[in-house]
Amino acid sequence: MKDTFRAVWVEEVAPGKFDQRIVERQVGDLPDHPLLLAVTHSSLNYKDALSAFGNRGVTREYPHTPGIDAVGKVIEDKSGTYAPGDELLVTGYDLGMNTCGGLAECIRIPAGWALPLPEGLSARESMILGTAGLTAGLCVEKLLEAGAKPEDGEVLVTGATGGVGSIAVALLAKLGFRVAAVTGKLESADFLTELGAWKVLDRETLAPFASKAMAKPMWAWAVDTVGGDTLFNVIKSLAYGGGVAACGMAAGAQFQANVFPFILRGISLLGVDSVELPLEKKASVWRKFAAEWQNSELLNRIAEDISLEQAPEFLARLLRGHGIGRYVVDMA
Ligand code: NDP
Repeated sequence: MKDTFRAVWVEEVAPGKFDQRIVERQVGDLPDHPLLLAVTHSSLNYKDALSAFGNRGVTREYPHTPGIDAVGKVIEDKSGTYAPGDELLVTGYDLGMNTCGGLAECIRIPAGWALPLPEGLSARESMILGTAGLTAGLCVEKLLEAGAKPEDGEVLVTGATGGVGSIAVALLAKLGFRVAAVTGKLESADFLTELGAWKVLDRETLAPFASKAMAKPMWAWAVDTVGGDTLFNVIKSLAYGGGVAACGMAAGAQFQANVFPFILRGISLLGVDSVELPLEKKASVWRKFAAEWQNSELLNRIAEDISLEQAPEFLARLLRGHGIGRYVVDMA
C-alpha cells in the first residue's frame, strides 16, 4: 500500500479567495474511518464546484478535497464489511463536503456510505452517472410514483445540458416520454436531440411567465434542476394535476410563489434529495441503471474523461453553468 496519494487541494489563500491545485497527501492524514478505498474514477458535480470555490454552505473548513462521488477498490476495511479488492461505489452523505472527497486517489469513509458496484455497470459508467445520475433517476421515480405516463403529454426538463438534466432527458426519452428540454445553450440542441429530446427550448421561453400569476398549461410533468424563479415558472405552466420533481438550485435557492397552481390546478411540488437518502434506496436506483435503465451508448455520448489535473479547470466551468453532460475523472 502506498503512503501517499494525489488529491485536489482547495485552500483559502486570502479572505474569500480560493485556490485549487493538485497535491501529494499522506494516507495517514485521512479521517479515522474504517474503509480505505483506492479511487479509480470520480466525477464532477455542481456541488463540487461550490465546494472548490469556497461555498461554506457545502464545505465549512479549508483546506479541503472536494468530490461527492467515487468508485474504487477496497484497500482495507476495519469494519469487516468488505474484503480487499472489492469494487465499491460511494455517492453523497458527507463525502466531499466536510469529509475528504473523491477528487483524490484515496478516500477513507464509514463502510455504511458504500455500495458494491452493481453487476452490469463498469466503474467508469457508474461515475458517468454518479450523483447526477442517481438524482435524475430519483426525479424520474418521483414522477412515476405521482402517476406520470407518456400519454399525459410533454415532460419539461430544465438545465437540460447539465449533469442531472442530460441524464433526466435521456432516461425520460428511454421510458417513452416526449421531453421538452430547456437550455441556455441552444448551440447544444443537437446534443439534446441525440439524447432523445422531443424539442429543445431556449431558457428565455419561461421568462415571460414571471409577470403572470398563472401561465398557459404547457407540460404534463417536469424535472427542474435549476431552482430559483425558473422553478415557479415551471409550476405555473404545468397542466392540471401535473407535478415537478425539484432537485436543484443552479439559478438560485429562493423563488417568488403564489398558491394558484396548487389550489386551482392541483399541481404537486416533489422534492428530491440524493445525498442523505438511505443506502438501500440508493442501491435500488443503481440496480435499475444496471438493468432496465442500462444504456451504455448514451452514457458514452454524455461523458468526457478528464484527468485529476484538469478537474479545477472543469469545476470552474461548472460553476459558470458552462458544463455539458458529465465529466469523469480517470485515476485508474
Ligand atoms: P451542472 O452544472 O452539470 O448543470 C447545471 C445546469 O443548469 C447548467 O449546465 C445549465 O444548463 C443550467 N444553469 C446553470 N446556471 C443557470 C442559471 N443561472 N439559470 C438557469 N439555468 C442555469 O449541475 P448538476 O447537474 O451537477 O446539478 C444540477 C443542480 O442539481 C445543481 O443545483 C445541484 O446542486 C443540484 N443537485 C441536487 C441534488 C439533490 O440531491 N437534490 C443532487 C445533485 C445535484 P443549460 O445551459 O442547459 O440551461
